[in-house]
Amino acid sequence: MIEVLTPREVDAARPSGQFVARTLAELRKKAKPGVNLLQLNTWAAKMIEEAGAVSCYVDYAPSFGRGPFGKVICTSVNDAVLHGLPHDYVLKNGDLLTLDFAASLNGWVTDSAISFTVGDAVRDEDQRMIEATKKALDAGILAAQPGARIGDISHAIGSVLEAANFEVNLEFGGHGVGSTMHQDPHISNNGVPGRGYKLRPGLLLAIEPWVMAGTSKLVMDPDGWTLRSANGGRTAHSEHTIAVTKSGPVILTELE
Ligand code: MG
Ligand code: MG
Repeated sequence: MIEVLTPREVDAARPSGQFVARTLAELRKKAKPGVNLLQLNTWAAKMIEEAGAVSCYVDYAPSFGRGPFGKVICTSVNDAVLHGLPHDYVLKNGDLLTLDFAASLNGWVTDSAISFTVGDAVRDEDQRMIEATKKALDAGILAAQPGARIGDISHAIGSVLEAANFEVNLEFGGHGVGSTMHQDPHISNNGVPGRGYKLRPGLLLAIEPWVMAGTSKLVMDPDGWTLRSANGGRTAHSEHTIAVTKSGPVILTELE
């Protein structure tokens, strides 16, 4: 399913984007050395409740995962990159943490992810990896113009990631959002320009480049959710939800 929103509906989705952005900013501040991932999940659940929002994750049960996710945020540490199931783990100085969060507010879903270093032991190579995903995200967003095609976004992302010497995994990527979290079109993190679905005003897209140092291969934890780099290399992920509008892409999940 591909949903195309009216301009009024796009406006109605803005508070959802601001809520997701605010929640991630707040959790980033709280994610200090000594904090348990389960505590981050509890804080996120409280923010959802206080905002009158609905979690997109708690009942999420796609065919690639094991049963309902059961938590409201993804927390992926170091070599974990996607779908990190919060578990009993205390963050350490220098951990590389990815928070991925999607929620529905007033009936509209937005989805965003950030990677950052916990504490002050920042590694240059982690920072370089995070910057590469941010730059790829910026390029992907810039390509999301009305009349362009999904392949233009994919190509823009893939070009930045490859120029930074990362192998691009094509199993998981961006997606349409709207009244539900995962919709068509799928947005691969590499592709051919000029191909694929034609972008039109009213589309909401979650664009999400992610990389792993030295590999594009994933392995799954016994929890049935958490995906890690097959070689133990560290990882980064940057995601925003945007609206395609007549005058170009508008980022919904950036604090205004
Ligand atoms: Mg996400
Ligand atoms: Mg997403």
